[in-house]
Amino acid sequence: MVPEDAVVLKSSPFEGPDFNNPATRLLSRRFLWSAVAIILLGEAVYLSILLTGPPEHWFRASGPVLMTLLSLSAGLMLARGKAQMALHTLIYGVWVIITLVAVINGGIRAPLVYAYPLVILTTGWMVSGRAAIIVTILTSITTVALVLAQSHGLLRQTPDAPVMLYAVSQIFANILAAILIIFLVQAYMRRLAELNAVSTGFAQRTRDLEETRTELHQAQAVARVGSWIYDLTTDTMRLSDETCRIFGLPLGTTGTHAAYLSRTVAEDRDELNKAWEAALKGAAFDYEHRIRVGESVRWVRQKAEMCRGANGAVVRASGISQDITERKLADIELRQSEKRFSTAFSSSPVASSIASLASGLVLEANQHFERDYGWTQADMIGHTTLEFGLWPDDVTRNAFVDAIRHNGRLVDYETVFMHKNGGRRNVSISGEVITLDGETCILAYTTDITARKRADAQIQNLAFFDPLTQLPNRRLLMDRLKQSLASGSRRQRLGALLFIDLDNFKTLNDTHGHDKGDQLLQLVAQRLTASVRECDTVARLGGDEFVVMLEDLSENPVEAVTQTKVVAEKILEALNQNYQLAHYVHHSTPSIGVTLFGGQPEDIDEPLKRADLAMYQSKTAGRNTIRFFDPQMQAVVAERASLELGLREALADEHFLLYYQPQVMGESLVTGAEVLLRWKHPQRGLVSPAEFIPLAEETGLILPLGNWVLETACAQLARWSGKPSLAQLTISVNVSTRQFNQPDFVDQVLSVLARTGADPNRLKLELTESLLVSNFDDVIAKMNTLQAHGVGFALDDFGTGYSSLAYLKRLPLDQIKIDQSFVRDILIDPNDAAIAKMVIVLAESLGLLVVAEGVETQAQKDALAEQGCHAYQGYLFSRPLPIDEFEAFLGRK
Ligand code: C2E
Ligand code: CA
Ligand code: CA
Repeated sequence: MVPEDAVVLKSSPFEGPDFNNPATRLLSRRFLWSAVAIILLGEAVYLSILLTGPPEHWFRASGPVLMTLLSLSAGLMLARGKAQMALHTLIYGVWVIITLVAVINGGIRAPLVYAYPLVILTTGWMVSGRAAIIVTILTSITTVALVLAQSHGLLRQTPDAPVMLYAVSQIFANILAAILIIFLVQAYMRRLAELNAVSTGFAQRTRDLEETRTELHQAQAVARVGSWIYDLTTDTMRLSDETCRIFGLPLGTTGTHAAYLSRTVAEDRDELNKAWEAALKGAAFDYEHRIRVGESVRWVRQKAEMCRGANGAVVRASGISQDITERKLADIELRQSEKRFSTAFSSSPVASSIASLASGLVLEANQHFERDYGWTQADMIGHTTLEFGLWPDDVTRNAFVDAIRHNGRLVDYETVFMHKNGGRRNVSISGEVITLDGETCILAYTTDITARKRADAQIQNLAFFDPLTQLPNRRLLMDRLKQSLASGSRRQRLGALLFIDLDNFKTLNDTHGHDKGDQLLQLVAQRLTASVRECDTVARLGGDEFVVMLEDLSENPVEAVTQTKVVAEKILEALNQNYQLAHYVHHSTPSIGVTLFGGQPEDIDEPLKRADLAMYQSKTAGRNTIRFFDPQMQAVVAERASLELGLREALADEHFLLYYQPQVMGESLVTGAEVLLRWKHPQRGLVSPAEFIPLAEETGLILPLGNWVLETACAQLARWSGKPSLAQLTISVNVSTRQFNQPDFVDQVLSVLARTGADPNRLKLELTESLLVSNFDDVIAKMNTLQAHGVGFALDDFGTGYSSLAYLKRLPLDQIKIDQSFVRDILIDPNDAAIAKMVIVLAESLGLLVVAEGVETQAQKDALAEQGCHAYQGYLFSRPLPIDEFEAFLGRK
């Protein structure tokens, strides 16, 4: 490669002066001036010697004169700056003069002939080698011609020139030769210096270029990018070092299209060719393919720019080659690892999914979701988990997402999935937040742990439940007691503990074996559970000890005790029933100790200790009984118990009696009486039914008691029927709901009537509205049957209960009794007056008799009469009276 601005060197320093070149121009001119000067000087000396010599040699003056004239004109030309012309004039002029002088005087022996070599030399130096050769040939021909002419005597015979003239000619020719040599050497040195300078500059430029190339090569090597230029006209490809390295070629290799293709992996050649052809037609050329480098295969990227000639055809392509093997391998590795990932994902033995963190959209799910949870890939992919219902609710899902977002990954996160069939599945999720195609996703592996959970529950069961009875054990009881104490103290509700110990359990075990004992315990557990509400706890402490914990009792201790006592009695009764133990019927009784808790803060062991103590009291009291720990509570219980006991005794000992309260029509006509029960208590005197009727209802004593009332009342009716003055009287008997609801109530009434011989038409039964709440049809049926036998009915305490016109119409009633409360305030409260009036109008419209209860004043009676009420009962007429006083009262009338 030649730099454009490189110095153009002549092939030799003798190639003639370059007058345009300042370096040689000066030298050449000085030589010409010197030559002119020497010639002039030499000719002057020559002429003077000639003129001072003999006249016969004057003819020899023509040569010096011509030389002088020539030198002067050359000098003139030089002075005028026409160096080239001066040079040619001088050289060729001198040669011609020499030749002329030789022809005229002396031929080959003429003194100036010696100057021929000088002319040849000067010509060679100052004009050109070719000119010198031509001059030499001419000179030789001339010399030969002179010799021939002289030997044939064609030349004029001239006397030999004087020796001096020879001498002068030779001296000046020598001087001129010396000057010529001096200038030649000078010119040579100059050229050498010039050459040196040029070559030094050239070397520097070469170095610079070399550095640039090195840098380029380094850059290419670092970037693994080589360059190349392909000349299509010659099918040669010049490759940069890096390109050579990429292709595994020796540096400096040039190639051809075919050679390039041969290095391309066979499978890629067709495609590469297509891309190249397309590029030639104008498409961009940027192509990746494989090449073979020795034994190995590498990936290259080729990118080229096309350079088109005038006709539009591509003449040259310059491009880059890049080794992209590593990137390609990484790509392939990535693709393989993606493939491996997807293989691992789909072949994962557990249900796996990938869902977008932001949208919740399921991007991937393997087939195990269907196996484990019923959801097919079609159900899942492209839908959010909430949308198709994988999660039971948002809260559960959000808890999971928050946890994994917060930790980045989760291991064995336990939550709940919904099976497609609607079932809940316990699942354990391990997963992490990953980035997939730039999107943040949750990769989750889900295992169904429902079975494990169940096993856990079983273990839990063993820890907290008694294996024999499946009841909570002591640990769970204490746990619940603790919770109850905590929540009870907040809510002010009381709770109760019933400590139950089976009497003589050891005897059963010893005499009939442990399996009988176990059977009994299981039956006891069943009966206990059946005796309490679902929210209560029945626990087995071990052996024959059970504890029942009641919660959410009243906050009033007296009420709570009553509630507890009801349950305790129920339990006592249940456990007193016979037990069928295989073929053996066993009777067992419990001792029950009861305590309340929740009234004040206390240690959880305390209530259990108290119940235990109470249980021992119960044992000491003779077993098969209930004892309350708290003395005050115990008193309440005791009182109720004594009341109950008293009721039973009173019933047996006939400590009851009936009072009769007259029922009056119009002004004072007594039409009958309502019998009201009285208990003649040995210590307390007469006890009001308000005190003992509820207890009698609760304990069921109302049944025998009600029967006694009915029987007594009917017996009275029968007695009255014999006395004409009393035979028309009716007796109203209060019937409690529990009594009426007995299936054989109708039969009981009829049998009492039959037994006593009372007239059913004189008997009225007073029912309350509470009876009508349930079994309405049954009630009507019973009433209809009795009514068919002549028994009448009154609806008691009307207005206080569930009064409804609809059922009033359907009931076979004779009377409605307006409740005392309306009568009491009939004069004060217009509301009550209105109600009373409404009841009277209503009863009239239904054709029923209205009886006003609790009439105490004349004003009340008048007000009622004004409304249309004509039957009364109350202190205004009489208090309830014993039978003899009642009869006396009638007699006074
Ligand atoms: P009841 O059926 O409403 O009985 C009327 C109550 O009003 C009676 O109370 C009676 O003494 C009272 N009384 C009557 N006239 C007046 C008055 O002018 N002023 C006031 N203040 N009170 C008056 P007693 O006798 O205490 O009976 C109370 C309740 O006990 C009865 O209310 C009844 O529901 C029930 N009872 C009474 N005897 C029996 C019975 O043999 N069997 C049933 N199951 N319950 C009965
Ligand atoms: Ca009544
Ligand atoms: Ca009443």
